[in-house]
Amino acid sequence: MHEARRPVGRRRDRIRPIIERLAVEHADAKIALEFRNPVELLISVMLSAQTTDVNVNRVTATLFEKYRRPEDYLAVPRDELEQDVYATGFFRQKAKSIQGAMRVLLDEFGGEVPTTIDELLRLPGVARKTANVVAAELGNPQGIVVDTHVRRLSQRLGLTRQEDPVKIERDLVKLVPRADWGRFPHLLIWHGRRVCDARNPRCEDCVLTDLCPSSRVELDEVAELP
Ligand code: SF4
Repeated sequence: MHEARRPVGRRRDRIRPIIERLAVEHADAKIALEFRNPVELLISVMLSAQTTDVNVNRVTATLFEKYRRPEDYLAVPRDELEQDVYATGFFRQKAKSIQGAMRVLLDEFGGEVPTTIDELLRLPGVARKTANVVAAELGNPQGIVVDTHVRRLSQRLGLTRQEDPVKIERDLVKLVPRADWGRFPHLLIWHGRRVCDARNPRCEDCVLTDLCPSSRVELDEVAELP
């Protein structure tokens, strides 16, 4: 990665154009997990720990036909659910967490998925990252989800100097307008996948090259880009 950090102005002044340009560039950016309702969203996010979204979607395509309501996950023996989520890895822990979460959903929330972080954290097996993703997807973002792409791009774009995801999130929520908390991570994730690759960022094709202190394109070349 290009180490020299070139001057591109204050991050407060750059954040809006960064969001606006990414929103145009990645108008289709959204969560890659497939789900039809809040319960399926919750299960998908729980299953996505330590595996890819593609893998989760492959498993849930059949899982969600078999299990339609929270009660359905509790109506089978644990080992049957373990087999059904086996391909996502950590299947014992995931099956246990899903049954625990469905139990609490039914006992305390009337079978509905809550939308606040505090309530979501009461579900067994739901950690802060899962709660953040679910709340944001349900239209109630209360933080900014920091995954590996969000971490890398925030650092490259000079939006944070932190390494720890919790501290990065703290910087981002001060900077990003609250209305954009939900879509901001998706924009960075899609930009990270499509353009700002971890090993080989395509700065010459990047819409942020004049706003990015880590760009490999020299400033005097930016004016000449198409
Ligand atoms: S210019 Fe774009 S591709 Fe290059 S480091 Fe910055 S954000 Fe990533």
